[in-house]
Amino acid sequence: MNGTRIFPPDLLAGKVALVTGGGTGIGLGIAACLSAAGATVAIASRKPEHLAAAAEALRGAGGGVTTVETNVREPEAVARMVERVAGEHGRIDLLVNNAAGNFYAPSATLSPNAWRAVVETDLYGTFYCSQAVYPVMKAQGGGRIVSISMTLHYRGWPLMAHATAAKAGVDALTRTLALEWAGDGITVNAIAPGPIPTEGVKKAFTPPGGAPDVPAMDEFATRAIPLGRWGKPEDVGHLVAFLASPAGDWITGSIFVVDGGSWLAGERR
Ligand code: NAP
Repeated sequence: MNGTRIFPPDLLAGKVALVTGGGTGIGLGIAACLSAAGATVAIASRKPEHLAAAAEALRGAGGGVTTVETNVREPEAVARMVERVAGEHGRIDLLVNNAAGNFYAPSATLSPNAWRAVVETDLYGTFYCSQAVYPVMKAQGGGRIVSISMTLHYRGWPLMAHATAAKAGVDALTRTLALEWAGDGITVNAIAPGPIPTEGVKKAFTPPGGAPDVPAMDEFATRAIPLGRWGKPEDVGHLVAFLASPAGDWITGSIFVVDGGSWLAGERR
């Protein structure tokens, strides 16, 4: 996969990484960067078609890949996922809490189910997965957890009450778990990506029944992103690989913004 090899191919040799939501978008980019750095990667999400296509792409690039169907909203399913990956590979060195879902919706009419779906996926899912890998990482003498957050809650973001509330919780969880689990050799960090045109993001630039409005996307990048381009999944993936490597040994409780300067500039669409 293009653009995924920056670090030496044996940087993460012998390491096992579990990436939730690793079949699409940023999660797939993270899995590809970890794989290119020599890690064995397990990707987990709900839809087998996402996992199968991603596994084929990752294997085509030479990486070892396991796929696991799971729903991070369900603690029992998360426990089975961790049991399966640890059973198959003997360890889990890195958990990437990337699975999430959201959509634009006015708070005044947001249904309890819609609120619950996003908060349970983004925040509860992050907690369930982190708690489930804890005993595995503790028993093996340490590990790394990286959660994918966002920046929209730094200023507030209309129509995103559910996701901004959930990701603010992910940030709080990151700092608290970092302190609770440091003594077990487990580091806990988060990455807050800026705009990366995954399928869901492109939908916001797509009129009903049409194709993505490329000029509008270009205009957004020029106006709203100081570094002048949309992000790429590997912009996030390389930082995950860095944090998983020995370079990340003394980094915990940190939240890294990877957004081309977007949130500082404060432009909205
Ligand atoms: P995406 O392609 O829609 O990825 C979301 C992934 O999560 C999918 O692979 C989906 O797979 C999985 N997923 C959703 N609900 C799940 C559940 N209940 N259980 C297990 N897996 C589930 O979106 P993305 O843009 O790459 O987002 C990835 C992460 O980056 C998210 O945490 C998002 O909040 C964050 N982020 C993205 C941007 C951006 O501009 N793209 C900006 C800031 C933050 P299945 O459908 O197969 O379950």
